[in-house]
Amino acid sequence: MADPPQLADSPTDWIDETFAAQWPASLALRQSTAAQRIAKLRRFADALIARRSAWYEAFAQDFSKPPAEVESTELLPVIEEVRHAVNHLRRWMKPVRVRATWLTLGTHSRIEAQPRGRCLILGPWNYPVNTVLCPLVSAIAAGNTVMVKPSELTPAVSRLVGELIAEVFSPDEVVVVPGGVRTAQHLLGLPFDHIFFTGSPAVGKLVMKAAADHLSSVTLELGGQSPVIVDETADLQKAAEVVMWGKLINLGQSCVAPDHVFVHRSVRVAFVRACAEVVRARFGHSGADQQASPDLARIINLRHTGRIAQLVSQAEQAGATMALGSPVDHERRFIPPTLLTDLPASAEILDEEIFGPVLPIIDYDSLDEVIARINAKPKPLALYIWSRREAITRRLVDETSSGGVCVNHCMLHYVHGGLPFGGVNNSGMGSSHGHFGFKAFSHERAVLRAGWTLPARFMFPPYTPFKSRLVQGLVEVLRRL
Ligand code: NAD
Repeated sequence: MADPPQLADSPTDWIDETFAAQWPASLALRQSTAAQRIAKLRRFADALIARRSAWYEAFAQDFSKPPAEVESTELLPVIEEVRHAVNHLRRWMKPVRVRATWLTLGTHSRIEAQPRGRCLILGPWNYPVNTVLCPLVSAIAAGNTVMVKPSELTPAVSRLVGELIAEVFSPDEVVVVPGGVRTAQHLLGLPFDHIFFTGSPAVGKLVMKAAADHLSSVTLELGGQSPVIVDETADLQKAAEVVMWGKLINLGQSCVAPDHVFVHRSVRVAFVRACAEVVRARFGHSGADQQASPDLARIINLRHTGRIAQLVSQAEQAGATMALGSPVDHERRFIPPTLLTDLPASAEILDEEIFGPVLPIIDYDSLDEVIARINAKPKPLALYIWSRREAITRRLVDETSSGGVCVNHCMLHYVHGGLPFGGVNNSGMGSSHGHFGFKAFSHERAVLRAGWTLPARFMFPPYTPFKSRLVQGLVEVLRRL
């Protein structure tokens, strides 16, 4: 099973012309109404769902993603994003009145959400529909023009994203720009008003550097290691069921996948047994059964298959135990579900985002040790806590940092439209989904109208002794209020 051929780069003069053509369209969109934006979102959702079987086929070609996962992790989040935006857009677009302060008595102020203008969305390969179309929904809801560059590593899906967009939008409003790194680099040289990037922290840094040349604002949805903590009071069966679901959906290639587990030493054996039983019950006992299961996707390419296999064999050589696992089929890009225990600190697998179906399980004795290990690493995208004790949960939430947290579940915060989704520092910057996505693609503009009087007039020159005393007096009064 060879890697799918990557998408060819787009001609740079076509990119430049399209970018120029989006300028007048972006100015016109500043006047667009909620009704017009909602109509576009509805047409877009209909066209997305009309291609259902084509999505299944494209995902099967790119990395054998099971249709049920195409539904639950690609189409469902986009439809939910549309539904949420359609239901709330009128309220989001409404200017927010702000009361006058002491210094601005007599004025009338409001905050108006203005479209940012021309936006760029750059997407990764692991959720090639969801990660570009969810931000697209927010960008359209906020009234922007958009150039979308999906991943070159999922050519069939990215081509279909292009067809969908071409059916619903004119290219001066939303356009898909196929291509790889060279196309992304060319796009990053253009003065976009906002760049929404989803991908690795390493490329996120390059995006932010390129954005600095034009002072384009950025939203960075990045990755990293999302740890799980299972304490001695946790419901081990439920934890195993949910953690193994989170680890194996998309064959572990999820930004919010549980990366590794810290489990209290007293329940480690029971937890590992429960995880292994869940895998066998869902996908079969042997490696061959698991490979034959229609419910496990494939690794995106040979390079990543080799990278993950190498992490596992390096861990074993360093002394780790494979509590569950079977040989890797490199040619078919299949890594079987794997549980590793007894990991020495020198195991490289503990230092990077695994992005595959391998779960390192690390024993702990004291929570201090877990908190110190989490805080010693870059801030994760998500943190998952399994405990029945509120004091433990509270400590872990208060004493660590991460983009988001789920208690007694995994990844569910991602689909809650009312919550901000995003990372912090190394795992990202800014947030998306629902109102937060709308705000990412909007400029919150302060609009103040002068009324009957303004204390500011007492600050105009010439600075007479009287005015100086008045301002001094004002400072003293405000200090005491
Ligand atoms: P990536 O950073 O390699 O690529 C993402 C995009 O950047 C692609 O469109 C690619 O063409 C482009 N790109 C790659 N190299 C570039 C360069 N040198 N200059 C400019 N553009 C470049 O990421 P990936 O491998 O496609 O995706 C996996 C990563 O994405 C993981 O780290 C994962 O955690 C993260 N991710 C994050 C989220 C989230 O919501 N936070 C969601 C999905 C994936």
